[in-house]
Amino acid sequence: MRTTLKNAVPKEQVTAGLSVVRETVTGVIADIRERGDAAVREYSERFDKWSPGAFRLSPEQTEKIVNEVPQQVIDDIRFVQDQVRNFAEHQLASMGEFEIETLPGVRLGQKHIPVQAVGAYIPGGRYPLTASAHMTIVTAKTAGVPRVVACTPPIRGEIPSATVAAAHLAGADEIWLLGGVQAVASMAIGTDTMKPVNLIAGPGNGYVAEAKRQLFGQIGIDLSAGPTEILVLADADADPYTAAVDLLSQAEHGPDSPAILITTSEALARKVIAHVEAILPDMPTKDFAGPAWRDHGQVIVVDGIDELYELADEFASEHVEVLTAAPRLALERMTQYGALFLGEGTCVSYGDKVIGTNHVLPTRGAARYTGGLWVGKYLKTVTYQEVTEPDSSVLLGRLCGRAARVELFEGHARSGDLRAAKFGGDALPW
Ligand code: NAD
Repeated sequence: MRTTLKNAVPKEQVTAGLSVVRETVTGVIADIRERGDAAVREYSERFDKWSPGAFRLSPEQTEKIVNEVPQQVIDDIRFVQDQVRNFAEHQLASMGEFEIETLPGVRLGQKHIPVQAVGAYIPGGRYPLTASAHMTIVTAKTAGVPRVVACTPPIRGEIPSATVAAAHLAGADEIWLLGGVQAVASMAIGTDTMKPVNLIAGPGNGYVAEAKRQLFGQIGIDLSAGPTEILVLADADADPYTAAVDLLSQAEHGPDSPAILITTSEALARKVIAHVEAILPDMPTKDFAGPAWRDHGQVIVVDGIDELYELADEFASEHVEVLTAAPRLALERMTQYGALFLGEGTCVSYGDKVIGTNHVLPTRGAARYTGGLWVGKYLKTVTYQEVTEPDSSVLLGRLCGRAARVELFEGHARSGDLRAAKFGGDALPW
């Protein structure tokens, strides 16, 4: 039997909040479409109290900011970017381009072409999310994207210098200190000062995720990567303190971040809740983690390991941390998640900050239809074909004539008839 020891706020409450976000985003996008740069500046002033001479950093400004970043921070950025690049290069190598001969002289091929201009959104409302620069920009450059525009907001009126350094070291071609809907809309629509991009990637809060959703179609997007989620799976032998610390590691992202524990042990569940309640009051980020745990924290006890994985899959969570005796079983049992963290040797924070897999991951159930950001999201998989053998052209031409006429497509049929006539001497039937 399933027991819920801690529940989240009702779904309707969450949905009501989402429709307010939706309306705000629609209004901001429409206004930027109409008034361009003037509107962008007004929204940056209103939401971020930020209105510099220019939102785009010049190369000299960038260099000055990067030079002020402590050497240890620069070294760490370089190390993590190497990890992200290494993983992305392996992903790229796994993507096959090929050309096959399917009939004599009939060659069909597939190749991957990089998107030519990408907007990399790097969040910065509550925290300067330096690591998102590695994830979005290093991966885009590994894919071969020629123009990468990085946008990140000022953080409480200050320039996020480590993030600027990370964007620069990752190879961003333009760096803009601009955040939220105004950044996403500028990149998608273009203004007098910003040339539009073809695809926008990167995580963000509910406003950013909704802006990407609404602009999809005019531009491409990587995926829906909104407020972070963590799902911890634990058995009776898991360390409850580790589970509690890791739940809060994601709850601190913001008050709308779900932190959920599913366990086979009620005793462990009660210990985890007690640890979370004990850690929270002294946590420097309790203003975000506290409301997240109160409103979106859940603790569910299930009957056994089968039910544990079944329920875990239903959540389709962004991050799933597996603290069980045989964590690799999750690889066989689960089909819906953004990323798996197997065993207590690793943790979601490694994925977020240092280990090299991409931290831009699907939220709010999007893991049912997509994985996270990867090198392939920046590539267009295209096909081509060629026929050089007359016999094959005749075969295909006659076939095309017959197949197209079944569908009443006379124009298509004639293109086929023409090949059959040119290469096989058939009489044209029209
Ligand atoms: P952010 O950069 O995403 O958003 C800040 C911007 O939001 C500001 O620049 C401001 O313009 C805009 N904004 C704030 N209040 C607004 C309002 N009332 N109306 C209109 N616009 C408003 O930074 P953040 O807020 O710190 O959020 C970062 C988010 O990214 C978190 O929710 C975190 O969980 C998420 N995240 C997700 C992933 C993922 O892969 N899914 C990874 C990392 C981070």
